[in-house]
Amino acid sequence: MSDLNDALRFAADIAADHLNAVPRGPVWQPVPEPDREWLTGQPLPLTGRPLRELLDDVRERVLPHPMGNGHPRFFGWVNSPPSPAGVLVAAPSAALNPSCAGGDHAGALLERTAVRWLAELVGFPHPPGAGLLTSGASMATVIALATARQRAVHRQGLNVRATGLYGSAPLAVYLPAEGHSCLRKAVELLGLGGQYTRTVPVDRAFRLDPGELRRLISADLDAGVRPFLIAASAGTVNTGAVDPLNEVADIAEAHGMWFHIDGAYGALGVLAERARPAFTGLERADSLVIDPHKWLGVPVDCGCVLFRDPAGPRGTFSLVPAYLEDDSDDLGWFSEYGPEQTRPFRALRVWATIAHLGRDGVTRLVRATTGLAATLADMIDSAADFDLLAPAVTSVVAFRYRPASLDDGAVEALNRAIPAAVQRRGRAFLTGTRLSGSAVLRACILHPDTTEGDLQVLLDEIRDAAGETEPGNRCGRRAG
Ligand SMILES: *Cc1c(COP(=O)(O)O)cnc(C)c1O
Repeated sequence: MSDLNDALRFAADIAADHLNAVPRGPVWQPVPEPDREWLTGQPLPLTGRPLRELLDDVRERVLPHPMGNGHPRFFGWVNSPPSPAGVLVAAPSAALNPSCAGGDHAGALLERTAVRWLAELVGFPHPPGAGLLTSGASMATVIALATARQRAVHRQGLNVRATGLYGSAPLAVYLPAEGHSCLRKAVELLGLGGQYTRTVPVDRAFRLDPGELRRLISADLDAGVRPFLIAASAGTVNTGAVDPLNEVADIAEAHGMWFHIDGAYGALGVLAERARPAFTGLERADSLVIDPHKWLGVPVDCGCVLFRDPAGPRGTFSLVPAYLEDDSDDLGWFSEYGPEQTRPFRALRVWATIAHLGRDGVTRLVRATTGLAATLADMIDSAADFDLLAPAVTSVVAFRYRPASLDDGAVEALNRAIPAAVQRRGRAFLTGTRLSGSAVLRACILHPDTTEGDLQVLLDEIRDAAGETEPGNRCGRRAG
């Protein structure tokens, strides 16, 4: 065992050295050819190697090629740095290696606390058993929508687990135009089909438009199609917008529809005073998805789905074979609430992250990052060469680079090219998207160590990268 002891100490050292070095290195750079070859093309080894030797490879070939999300100037997509507490418990968690399908052991029991804490942080009601950790929001959404489908088909006097959707009346789903793609994936996977999926237009702040939702629902009712589920976003990827949750809840209630909220990225925004009013109505959802591996910084993977009523998911998924029967706990096993059987010990990472920060620390993180987003929005608004495209409600800022000298076509081409050019320069990492069909830039702030100075670097990097990508300069720079 002493081999393992030594190697584990060394593993802890290289992990800590890596974390300390991250802010000083480039945010990201392309993987050079020899390491790319090593990472993708290694032959299957015929014989093994000592543990300690493996760590040399990890140090020299793996850790030098990060995605970038550990760095305070990573503003791409929605990817946070790992919480220190989450890193700390990775090895002990693997050492215990439980299956959190259920049973009487620390892994399954601690998940009860982790899920309850998440619900409490965002102010969602939590009857015991009404939620579970998942691989991410995509899987959490499948579980939520499957549960909603089960209820809707049951109301038609059928059991979807027996009949599938055969024989049931069409069920219309309403997804906001700015909703995440995982909603549509879940709808397709569950056999609900695009034919009865309505895209609800958004207003000028990119929030679901309740008037449009009402209009779509009455058109479906007139056509004899049953409105079944409405999804809203509490923090979209593109702009961080929060849909008018309370109004959507009223509409869902009036029509007996399932109300689902995708708070994967943004639900924690409710902790910041400036954002809180936007979240009114969050507590009224039938199902709420939160991704602890986003804003909270729990190391990947970790999503969570919460329900108002634990009977829903259990009735949808519970299928207990004889060799797993266990009546020692009324709540049953987690594996009865979703499709996964053997389940990893995600709860230890959630528990450690929240226990380390406390509610106060999580609130400070959310307040600081939303505050920085507001600052960045102000900087952009007051700069002559940038356009702010949406209010910064949570911690995402959507904007466009628009130097006075360029026409619309050139601005479009430039904004499409800027993210990759900024990324290649290595001083900041930015990704793009499209709003109303046009290319835009977006910065998502999730890192506890990001500063106002980093925001200035980001804007300067965009200007410099734009200079490199302008058509006249491109060939010259590449050749040089
Ligand atoms: C990340 C994200 C998702 C998808 O979650 P995964 O954890 O990647 O499966 C869904 N919705 C929003 C708003 C997200 O940010």
